[in-house]
Amino acid sequence: MPSPPPAPAAPKPPQDKLSAPARALRKLGLARDIDLALHLPMRYVDETRITPVATLRDGDTAQVQGTVVECRVETRTRRQLVVRLADDSGEIVLRLVHFYPSNQKTLAVGQLVRARGEVRGGFFGREMVHPEFRAVTADAALPQALTPVYPSSAQLPQAYLRKAAASALGRAPLGELLPAEVLPGGLPTLREALQFLHHPSPNVPLTTLEDHSHPAWQRLKFEELLAQQLSQAQAQAARATLAAPVLSPRTSGLAAQLLATLPFTLTAAQQRVVAEIRTDLARPQPMHRLLQGDVGSGKTVVAALAAATAMGAGWQCALMAPTEILAEQHFRKLVQWLEPLGVQVAWLTGSRKGKARTAMVERVASGEAMLVVGTHAVIQHDVAFARLGLAIVDEQHRFGVAQRLALRQKLQEQALEPHLLMMSATPIPRTLAMTYFADLDVSTIDELPPGRTPIVTKVFADSRREQVVARIRDEVAQGKQVYWVCPLVEESEHLDLQNATATHAELGAALPGARVGLLHGRMAAAEKAAVMSLFTGGQMQLLVATTVIEVGVDVPNASLMVIEHAERFGLAQLHQLRGRVGRGEVASVCVLLYTPPLSATGKARLKAMAETNDGFEIARRDLDIRGPGEFMGARQSGDALLRFADLQADGALLQHARTVAPRLLREHPQAAAAHVQRWLAGRAEFLKA
Ligand code: ADP
Ligand code: MG
Repeated sequence: MPSPPPAPAAPKPPQDKLSAPARALRKLGLARDIDLALHLPMRYVDETRITPVATLRDGDTAQVQGTVVECRVETRTRRQLVVRLADDSGEIVLRLVHFYPSNQKTLAVGQLVRARGEVRGGFFGREMVHPEFRAVTADAALPQALTPVYPSSAQLPQAYLRKAAASALGRAPLGELLPAEVLPGGLPTLREALQFLHHPSPNVPLTTLEDHSHPAWQRLKFEELLAQQLSQAQAQAARATLAAPVLSPRTSGLAAQLLATLPFTLTAAQQRVVAEIRTDLARPQPMHRLLQGDVGSGKTVVAALAAATAMGAGWQCALMAPTEILAEQHFRKLVQWLEPLGVQVAWLTGSRKGKARTAMVERVASGEAMLVVGTHAVIQHDVAFARLGLAIVDEQHRFGVAQRLALRQKLQEQALEPHLLMMSATPIPRTLAMTYFADLDVSTIDELPPGRTPIVTKVFADSRREQVVARIRDEVAQGKQVYWVCPLVEESEHLDLQNATATHAELGAALPGARVGLLHGRMAAAEKAAVMSLFTGGQMQLLVATTVIEVGVDVPNASLMVIEHAERFGLAQLHQLRGRVGRGEVASVCVLLYTPPLSATGKARLKAMAETNDGFEIARRDLDIRGPGEFMGARQSGDALLRFADLQADGALLQHARTVAPRLLREHPQAAAAHVQRWLAGRAEFLKA
């Protein structure tokens, strides 16, 4: 083996000794050799050949080499450097509109220069404007491979990244781990594949690199899909070894009583998912299930029935929501449903401190509080459950990574691991769910409770604001309630607030007869709760809010929602917001106000909103508009299990991986473990969260 070339990159800590580009490497998550080896070029440039200038055509991107025969500063239209370069076949002009004295030196008369750029006919004849160029010696060799262009950042020059990647590639532990019998035929080894993808030979058809159909790409994708299949199988196997409390419902138990006292009957979809959850809870292994259903599909009651099953069997239940407002909504509903049946419901959030918190924590520890509802405060380390049987997490994707890991730890504190039910109103296409969660069962509520009138969505330019205010006046006169959602200003919470406050004043003045409230993220929890309870209770007609009302708020009398600057919201978020109306039997309207001009994606989003109310359809369109990487919103890039493969497009490879994974686990367990380690090291914990 040749000794590895000296390394400019991937130095080890301490961090403060790192150079600026090395720190930039870290920031891109490129700390280890293997990370750099897997950081693939987004495109390539061909510097392997020199084109005689006489054969260039307008529009070509080419590399030329010649001697500078003239270098002068022109000032005719604007100050610019005009350089005439000659090779054996003819001449071409290099033109720099921005230049430094050092450029003049490099391009001095008599210098041999290699330049690369787009050719076009210009004022001075055939020319390249701002080409890449450097002085060379007559014997300077041409590269043998295409030059990679990597995804990078401003602090990280391509030249540095190229050197770092090349040397990391030499060092990275890329030895073959997989026995030949599990590999699809005709593919290179991983090392060959990566070497090729970083430095492809100039003869390869570029399309096979661009569309990722080249065997080197296939190998990479197969590796990744196999790691995914293996880790799923491992996670399932690991879960099967865990012991959980057996929570079987008794026919006369708490869940049955709750069902009997509900003011409505469950939809068929709710009955189905309740049955799926029950089956899980009655098993001696922990449930790990995602309950997904569109906004308003009635997930809360399903959660309540699951909780009742756990409590009926003598175990505690915890329910967590990402915001205090949402947690409080759950709290109210659950108190209303369960206290008449003799269940004590505790309330735990970040804003509850001091004695009240201590008392609550004691009631949880003693087991007196059977059901604990709150924000992530529910799983802080000082909260110890007497016997936690079931944890329910609403909108779990909105919790941060740290909070999900904390939950994970909390679940592992007991000898018997609690069951876990996650709920989401952002339906995830099934194949996508598989790529993001190592081991998860999915239940779907695909039907809304009866009697809902579909929401009508209207898209208006902001110039029609007056008309919208008149409409609000009508609704209020009819005893209905209205939400007005203020724009999201990404960069500044402060601006957000200013906007909301101004709109609040404006609407208050325009609607003298109505009570107009304001709700935003900076308000203290008690203040928020007070405003919310006025609105929920019907004493307040119009609620101006920032996106704090985003999830789960349930006010059936609200019939109109106006979303200002709707073009600034994501599609999933718009759908969530819209779900706040149309919760009762009144016909509801959602008005999306936008400020022209709309971007193409902005237009596509608003169009999707106007065309469909179906959350699954919205999710599909969102996926189309944004692509899977961004789809998961809360999950940062790089968190996804799949970076290279695509479950839709690479179905054949996926099928192969699925087939061979069990065999690999059975016959070559060490190879399987090493493969998962290589691909998912450091992410395994996260994927369970
Ligand atoms: P989400 O799935 O968005 O959390 P909720 O659980 O808040 O939805 O339910 C929305 C509304 O529908 C609530 O007022 C709830 O009480 C009501 N609801 C739930 N299930 C039914 C049903 N089967 N029939 C009628 N109303 C129902
Ligand atoms: Mg909900």
